[in-house]
Amino acid sequence: MKNTEFKLVFFDFDQTIINSGVGFSAAYKKLAEKFESILKIQGLQLDSEVILNKILTKDKEFNKNKIYDRDLWWNPILKEFNVKQELSQDKIKRLTETYWNTVIEYTEPYPDTFEILDYLKDKYKLALISDTDGLKGMKKIRIQKSNIAQYFDYIIVPGDDTKSVKPDPEPFLRIAKQAKVKPSKKECLMIGDKPFTDIKGAKNAGFTTVLIHRADWNVDPVPDYLIKELRELKEIL
Ligand SMILES: [Mg+2]
Repeated sequence: MKNTEFKLVFFDFDQTIINSGVGFSAAYKKLAEKFESILKIQGLQLDSEVILNKILTKDKEFNKNKIYDRDLWWNPILKEFNVKQELSQDKIKRLTETYWNTVIEYTEPYPDTFEILDYLKDKYKLALISDTDGLKGMKKIRIQKSNIAQYFDYIIVPGDDTKSVKPDPEPFLRIAKQAKVKPSKKECLMIGDKPFTDIKGAKNAGFTTVLIHRADWNVDPVPDYLIKELRELKEIL
């Protein structure tokens, strides 16, 4: 059933309106090759597929623990292979640079992203709320390069623009205040792919929540609506 009283609609960025999964996959494949060479120097001959799986497992762990600074990822991954030697800061920076450049190169919107943003843009105020990439300014660069920025009345990057990241309600409430909209279930709606940040944060702010299923997180909280494709929003909004 449609609720026509919504005034402000929030979207998450990665894996909600932007298929960064493709970009992240490409980046991990590249990183797996880099790690293969690093491990080879340490006398370890490992298949890049094995390395890739290890990286993917750690990615989920880092995300769940909200560790977004990629500089903090590479040594713990190396440690998974029982390598005692740590990577130099210089090497870490270069791996992070390779990672983000690959993400940007391969990331693209979902097939129904522009369709739904076109459908919503004149009906509601639209806000984009996307946590920091752990490298100040990187998220805004990625948002600009994605060609979706012009659809949004408000863009906020918690962690870069605010002290706290999702699920803290502060960044959600800040935008509602700016838009002069009551932070309530009736007037605000949030769409995101992560229950523990997007849904929890929006609930903390008092909003109606929509979880878009992009991966099995198997964690709380339960959203008000569950969708599989963005175009399903037309049944709600
Ligand atoms: Mg996301």
